[in-house]
Amino acid sequence: MVNISTATYRLISDHSFAVVRQNIANDQKAFFAQRSYSPGEVLARFTAGEVLDRPSYLTVQVGINQHIMLQPEHLQYINHSCEPNVFFDTSSMQIIAVRPIREGDEMTFFYPSTEWDMAQPFSCLCGTASCLGEIRGAAHIEQSRLDEYRLTDFIQQQLHARNNPH
Ligand SMILES: [Zn+2]
Repeated sequence: MVNISTATYRLISDHSFAVVRQNIANDQKAFFAQRSYSPGEVLARFTAGEVLDRPSYLTVQVGINQHIMLQPEHLQYINHSCEPNVFFDTSSMQIIAVRPIREGDEMTFFYPSTEWDMAQPFSCLCGTASCLGEIRGAAHIEQSRLDEYRLTDFIQQQLHARNNPH
């Protein structure tokens, strides 16, 4: 999560409930709320554009060998945080607030809440107290850590299978 007061951004696109801004220092795009939300509130709905059988850094996993390109496309700029404020519910196809969000906050989600085994692991620099460091997908995270997060039905099914191998 980036604090807007410490970075300089240029506006890329306005989607009324949120805007995409680009950090001038590192070119990274991010998604910022234009209003406040309470936990449980639905911010937006999404649909599957293309469905791919392998993950990429832009896809969201909805099943084994099922990875969707998000529509509308601007939702791809919701970055990862280990203390996310939104959740992608891939059953209801809704983006839901999981923490209070204020106008101007960056919206972030926890990639392993949708991704089982990521194509492109990365070192997280979110700087939050609960930062997991290397982000590789839920398959690589202990159950006790995952219990702190809202997870998709797909990830919960994968965990059930991992925890009950017979
Ligand atoms: Zn982190």
